[in-house]
Amino acid sequence: MKTEETKIIGVVGAGQMGGGIAHVFAQAGYEVVMHDIDRAATDRGLAMISKNLDRGVAKGRISEDEKATVLGRIAPCTDLGKMKDVDFVVEAIVESLEVKEKVFRELDEVTRSEVVLASNTSSLPITRLASSTRRPERFIGMHFMNPVPVMQLVEVIRGLATSDETYEKTKSLALSVKKTPVEVNDFPGFVANRILMPMINEAIYAVYEGVAGVEDVDAVMKMGMNHPMGPLTLADFIGLDTCLAIMRVLYEGLGDPKYRPCPLLVKYVDAGWLGKKAGRGFYRY
Ligand code: NAD
Repeated sequence: MKTEETKIIGVVGAGQMGGGIAHVFAQAGYEVVMHDIDRAATDRGLAMISKNLDRGVAKGRISEDEKATVLGRIAPCTDLGKMKDVDFVVEAIVESLEVKEKVFRELDEVTRSEVVLASNTSSLPITRLASSTRRPERFIGMHFMNPVPVMQLVEVIRGLATSDETYEKTKSLALSVKKTPVEVNDFPGFVANRILMPMINEAIYAVYEGVAGVEDVDAVMKMGMNHPMGPLTLADFIGLDTCLAIMRVLYEGLGDPKYRPCPLLVKYVDAGWLGKKAGRGFYRY
């Protein structure tokens, strides 16, 4: 259940991840201020949370009343100024260093100075994002996995200046929403994506080079390696734009050609075939 001094959580970005993050905090009893740049996105975010809660109702895990209470704890907004009263911020906007830096500069102005700013970035340097604020010691990575309500892990990434107090606060917060935090240092891709993305990229290369078809690559990894879903299905779920952005961070950050993004991945992103959220990626939805 929720921690004592942290009562209101600010979630910036109401997409796949931001919506899921708002959901788990609200379900654990926190008030949530959920921001996005456009109203349509917060509407979609709330609709997604409502649909996910319906699954809990159908399975008898929560009642209709509890669902309404959880939804009632989430206040959507399009004005970042609404973050002035929050006790902790989790940012989950588009994976772009420029855009995130701009938003963090604004959050640094708007929020109280003791508030911790956390980024759900999949791969951007926490140390660099932290330096766009005047509180790098109260800046940290809080990397939830997709789908947030289901997945157990939160990678907690310490930037160079992150204080022990900030780390402990973030760890307690993750535990309070029934997640398992794992401490990781700030290097490109952290641990999860340092290992996962090259595998997905290699699966795309296998299709690109005609080694096997999309379904067959997925079948090999599912049945042969006991993965719950194939790498190409997983890529579609994550979003191919996000996958490409992460491969670019690994390629540039580690300077090793083994991380070059597969040209087929680049082509799909250029076409707007971004995966499940766009209705088309390696599969059609
Ligand atoms: P998404 O495209 O579903 O959502 C991003 C949201 O950010 C959109 O609703 C967009 O309108 C909003 N946004 C863009 N610019 C904004 C701004 N300036 N201010 C406020 N809102 C803004 O993306 P997502 O999959 O939810 O990813 C969000 C973040 O989470 C990224 O950093 C991504 O790397 C990370 N992440 C993604 C996954 C995944 O599996 N998709 C997993 C872990 C972490």
